[in-house]
Amino acid sequence: PRPGHSPTLQAWVDEIAERARSRLGTGRIADYIPALVNQDPERFGLALCTNDGQLYTAGDAETPFSIQSLSKVLLLSLALRTHGDALWQRVGLNPSGMPFNSLMQLETERGKPRNPFINAGAIVVADHLVGAFATPAKHLQDIARTLSGNPGVLIDHEVLASEWSHRARNAAAAYLMKAFGNLDNEVDEVLTAYFACCALRMSCRDLAVALNYLAADGRALTTGERFIPPAMAQRINALMFTSGMYDAAGDFAYRVGLPAKSGVGGGIVAVVPGRLSICAWSPALDASGNSVAAQYALELIAEDLGRWHPAPS
Ligand code: GLU
Repeated sequence: PRPGHSPTLQAWVDEIAERARSRLGTGRIADYIPALVNQDPERFGLALCTNDGQLYTAGDAETPFSIQSLSKVLLLSLALRTHGDALWQRVGLNPSGMPFNSLMQLETERGKPRNPFINAGAIVVADHLVGAFATPAKHLQDIARTLSGNPGVLIDHEVLASEWSHRARNAAAAYLMKAFGNLDNEVDEVLTAYFACCALRMSCRDLAVALNYLAADGRALTTGERFIPPAMAQRINALMFTSGMYDAAGDFAYRVGLPAKSGVGGGIVAVVPGRLSICAWSPALDASGNSVAAQYALELIAEDLGRWHPAPS
């Protein structure tokens, strides 16, 4: 990736960041773990990465933040890459219509989580990877480094420790799934891997570059190699479209119309298939757990995308 060469596109990205900043001051910082409470609500970053490797950034685009549930996209990509469609025997493909950490459906649906983007689903995906790699979180960290081209991507151990000491609900989900026979490995080991992935710190720039493969038929921008097959990228985008934005996936699809995944650290990654990847970040969240300013930035981008970055004819 290199700085973009279109001054009009850069001016557009700057203008979107400026307008999105008007939403700062609304929303709440995630407080389910102490390690995230002290984030600065005034932060806002935006990065847009075209499939030919041009990078347009604004605001705090280089500031690393806790990627949280954005890691679920990387986890899923890695699990599909190593195990293929067998994963779908253990995790569903449908929106849950429930909060991301809900336990209700797990009981009635015999330990099979609705989709890989709710916590229970990502815990099953992590279990898959614990079986395949001796150190799955480290493996994911390495992949995040390679895909982003940033060797400085790190797991934040304070966040990891905080997730661990407040693990009751995720542990409950994991034990319930274990009881139904849907976890192969020990609960503690799986949870540690899952939390470590959530605790990765990356910037908007890192994420827009790293997840560009979803816009580029599975091809990684930094290596030029195919990270996942094109059909797999398409399917992950479909899941992001239907289940990537917590309970508000339908609202977001209506307003923005792009596959996207959000995390409680305030980051949102969105994909324009065939063209570009975007990451917006600001820590204050709405009632569904999606960043207020980042969502607004994506709404503005979607509104005007055809004008500033026309699809190739
Ligand atoms: N680490 C969080 C949890 O497991 C993930 C939250 C999120 O970003 O959705 O509760």
